[in-house]
Amino acid sequence: MATGAVPAKHWMDFPVTFKPGNYAYPAKKDKVEYLDSQKGLHFPNAREWSPEDDDWKLPENWKEIIIDGLGERLEKFRSLKIFMDCCVRCGACADKCHFYLGTGDPKNMPVLRAELLRSVYRNDFTLAGKILGKMAGGREMTVGVLKEWFMYSYQCTECRRCSVFCPYGIDTAEISMAAREIMDRIGVGQKYCNEIIGKVYKIGNNLGLPQPALEDTLEGLEEEVERLTELIEEDAGTEDGDVRAERDALQAELALRESEVEQLRGVLEEYVDQIRAAQSGGGDAAEIEARSVQHFEELVGAIPNFNWSGDGHRARYFQIRGVGELEQYEGAPNPSVGFLIDDIDFSGIGMHASLFDVQSVEVLRGPQAAIYGSKALAGEEAQ
Ligand code: SF4
Ligand code: SF4
Repeated sequence: MATGAVPAKHWMDFPVTFKPGNYAYPAKKDKVEYLDSQKGLHFPNAREWSPEDDDWKLPENWKEIIIDGLGERLEKFRSLKIFMDCCVRCGACADKCHFYLGTGDPKNMPVLRAELLRSVYRNDFTLAGKILGKMAGGREMTVGVLKEWFMYSYQCTECRRCSVFCPYGIDTAEISMAAREIMDRIGVGQKYCNEIIGKVYKIGNNLGLPQPALEDTLEGLEEEVERLTELIEEDAGTEDGDVRAERDALQAELALRESEVEQLRGVLEEYVDQIRAAQSGGGDAAEIEARSVQHFEELVGAIPNFNWSGDGHRARYFQIRGVGELEQYEGAPNPSVGFLIDDIDFSGIGMHASLFDVQSVEVLRGPQAAIYGSKALAGEEAQ
């Protein structure tokens, strides 16, 4: 645990140690091969390996791949570039991470977790780092650094709790995501994350629940609904107090089962749609075109974890991952989910957006305050 004593060594000089139980297991060779064989996916270097091995069997040019991957992401994601540059080491995030609180390992503080990637960024992408190296907080990408990336980016659950407390909205989850994506390019992936993507591609859902299992559950629920309905009808004419109480209880149970049936039907329909889309080779753009979507609200249902609420015919506010305003009429000076069209801020206007002449719709999940200001605490929607 932290003692307050000044450390004798620099944090960069503590190598990571893998021992049974303290690291994430890598994905199995056949699972990575399956992923790599899927259209649009790239998961190379499938092999059997263990983080405890000295030799991780990396491709020869692995460093180049990593640095290129980081460069690509810095170009593509303004947020990542800002997160790399704007941390002031205030430490406000340090004790917000459950992994740091649980392990006491300083590299599990969000600020230091991000620094694992930031140090490589400084070394290879900033002038100060290129000239001054370690004095400017830079360090070269080595196998030791890669091992730290693997160890600590997979000890982040990407919960984004730390980002809520960061005065700059630095989202360490996004930094962990970037590190994981880059490592996948050299075959350094983790079992849970890699294999779950395989299940989505192969079976259609992340649990690996096959269609017959969903159908079977639905049938069971429908039978239950029928049974309850019959029982209620049998009791219908009786005025006996006990029977009435029993009937009320049955009716409550029936309502619950009916809502479960409804939900499961929705899941099943979505599942079948996904399978059809996968079989027809349709991607997102094709799907949107096929739906003949005219208005933003028609698109909302297709965006995971994105909801709206409203009392009028057009909702004004959105929620991302459950965070966002629910009250249509009270208003909010800074809506939790921002809404931009061509960089013009329409937050709080919500569903009045038509999709006429719109080339793309982007949903940025998680705090985006560093880029879009205080109105984007939960995320940002941009067209
Ligand atoms: S996002 Fe990652 S670093 Fe931040 S609190 Fe959650 S687990 Fe910790
Ligand atoms: S709270 Fe934000 S600025 Fe402060 S150390 Fe953490 S990431 Fe850096």
